[in-house]
Amino acid sequence: MAIDTARLDGGDRILAVDHQPRLLDSLRALAGANDLPLDTAETADEAMDLLASGRYCVLLVDLLHPEKAGQQLMRFASERGLELHVVVSTTDPSQSVAVQALRNGARDFLRKPYAPEELVLTLGNALDNRRLTRENRFYQNRLHRSEQLYRFIVDRSPDMIYILDPDGRFTFLNSTAERLLGYRPESLLGRHYEQLVLPEDLPLARHGMNDRRTGERATRNLELRLLRSGDGPDEQRMVVVEVNAMGIYAQAEDSQPGALLGTYGIVRDITERKHAEAMIRYQAYHDLLTGLPNRALFKDRLMATISRNQRSGEKLAVLFLDLDRFKMVNDSLGHSVGDTLLERVAQRLRRCLREGDTLARLGGDEFTVLLPAIQTEMDAIRVSEKCVKALEEPFQVDDRELYLGVSIGIAIAPDHGETVETLVKHADVAMYHVKEQGRGRWAVFEPVMSSRVDHHVNLEHGLRHALEKNELRLAYQPQIDVEVGRVTAVEALVRWQHPTLGLISPMEFIPVAEQTGAIVGISRWVLREACRGVLSWPTANRQGIRLAVNLSPLHVGQPDFVQDILGILQEEGFPPQRLELEITEHLLMSNLDNVVGKLRQLTAHGVSFAVDDFGTGYSSLSYLQRLPIQTLKIDQSFIRALAEGSESHKLVGAIIAMGQGLGLKIVAEGVETHGQLQHLRKLQCMQMQGYLFGKPSETLLEDEELGQRWRAAVGVS
Ligand code: C2E
Ligand code: MG
Ligand code: MG
Repeated sequence: MAIDTARLDGGDRILAVDHQPRLLDSLRALAGANDLPLDTAETADEAMDLLASGRYCVLLVDLLHPEKAGQQLMRFASERGLELHVVVSTTDPSQSVAVQALRNGARDFLRKPYAPEELVLTLGNALDNRRLTRENRFYQNRLHRSEQLYRFIVDRSPDMIYILDPDGRFTFLNSTAERLLGYRPESLLGRHYEQLVLPEDLPLARHGMNDRRTGERATRNLELRLLRSGDGPDEQRMVVVEVNAMGIYAQAEDSQPGALLGTYGIVRDITERKHAEAMIRYQAYHDLLTGLPNRALFKDRLMATISRNQRSGEKLAVLFLDLDRFKMVNDSLGHSVGDTLLERVAQRLRRCLREGDTLARLGGDEFTVLLPAIQTEMDAIRVSEKCVKALEEPFQVDDRELYLGVSIGIAIAPDHGETVETLVKHADVAMYHVKEQGRGRWAVFEPVMSSRVDHHVNLEHGLRHALEKNELRLAYQPQIDVEVGRVTAVEALVRWQHPTLGLISPMEFIPVAEQTGAIVGISRWVLREACRGVLSWPTANRQGIRLAVNLSPLHVGQPDFVQDILGILQEEGFPPQRLELEITEHLLMSNLDNVVGKLRQLTAHGVSFAVDDFGTGYSSLSYLQRLPIQTLKIDQSFIRALAEGSESHKLVGAIIAMGQGLGLKIVAEGVETHGQLQHLRKLQCMQMQGYLFGKPSETLLEDEELGQRWRAAVGVS
């Protein structure tokens, strides 16, 4: 290869030094004739000046120079670090001077007088020698630099690069090994790669880390866990990596495959990536507020447990938990209090469960629990009771004592379903049932609950439009004074003619209407419609028959309740003295001050009040005395028991006696038989309502013959 000598170090000319000008002349002539680049100098100084220029690589000097130029110049060259090929010449037959010179670093020796060819050959060789030396150094430098470059690239690689011998021992590692594994690369040389692999991953590692295959079949992206240096437990020293490796073979000859030299591999640290992936997975499967599994993870686990249990024949339970009163706390005290509460709730619930159970937060104040293996229903009930108890204790948040409570529905697989959806839904239905029944308890799912919930939802939907669609009806039931044999009043009772479900009893839809608030509109409609109905019945007006209408607590609670009632009476032209409003004991107990004021206002206008279903609540008679009430309606349950001649006989007697003593009118409800009628008569209760005299009927008010029928029933003529 041609070398650009200009890039080589040092000069490329010959300097000849001799004190005989004639000899120098002949040397120049000889050099000129042989294409040798030669300059000359007579004195040592002259020679030093020239050498200092750095243009020379060969020095020819006479050892018998009077200034001892040979020795001087050699010292000069070594002091200046000039690399010179020194050729000495001498006429000294003893050669001792020459030997000395050679010892001091001269490379060649010529005896004077020399033959021209000998001189040309020696100088030519000297020049070649210098050139070769310099070329050699050039290549060495270049090699060194390129090796440094590769080394740099390899060491700077973010990946660990290794080479294994055919036995699997490291023969090379780049410096990334230290960053990745904490070992100095040298300390790993000669060690087997298996020493770095987490024991569980050895089978995997053997499959790829010392791969002999190349090309398409070589190992790609093999995920492994290696161990960093140190003493800690494996989990703490673990580095997750991705390995790419392939066999290295000697240069092939004659298209024969070369010998296996070992394996070349690249190891990438993917611990960070794994963390990030794990984080994302965590967020996708957990509720970030409480750290609990979320709906997705719960479903996954439930699904896995269902299929596992189908093989093992074990039962599992799903608990659906809904906090009581949480919404109120959250709305009134703010979301940060709400969040704190939810975290505390999660902590308490977790303590009620075992290791393998899953507690999840579905969102809001809804939690679910998966009990993966239970013997009987009782196991689930026991856990539920524990949870109920755990949440009964007050929560201390910012100097406040907060009371929550929880309602829990339980569904068991396979008894109540074998899919995620049905189990969760049925547990939810059971929970809903608990709420309906008064919160703070648990219930195991029963199929009947399901239809109840569907029904409830249907009713809720339908009720919104029942009024507009004119689907409500009124039935009237007479109240009889058996002493004088007369209808004294009629009670208006509402019914709902549902387009698909048929006639629905108020027992069913009134509670729903109370919950949704639809009851207020219904109440107004009933009152107005009943007033119109009674007024349109000539007999009723002639006989001054009174109208009884049931009141809803929610309606009474409206701020404009009093005006509402008076307004309707006025608009319909109904005399307030003929209206009796029925209220329940429950209404009186729950909001007495507010209610009593309103009742008094209406009483002042002539409206009277009756306590309905008396005896089923807790109110005492003396307590009722202080209220603006004129009538007590004894609940049907007592009347029904009368016929059996039980304790109820005495009880009803006492109620009647005391009520009359307080100046109250007593009405017996649900009178169905003559026996009951006779009992009540003996007890001096003459006002009665019941099937014996007439069922609630839409056509009652058109029935002029009514009087005849009850007269017969009562036995008065
Ligand atoms: P209530 O006010 O105590 O009405 C008496 C209920 O007993 C009526 O049921 C009536 O049909 C029934 N009944 C009467 N005599 C007998 C009898 O001899 N035997 C039996 N087994 N039952 C008898 P209904 O009409 O189903 O009403 C049930 C409840 O619904 C009422 O009880 C009342 O609390 C409520 N309700 C009815 N209409 C209205 C209304 O317009 N507004 C409000 N807020 N509630 C209403
Ligand atoms: Mg009533
Ligand atoms: Mg009643």
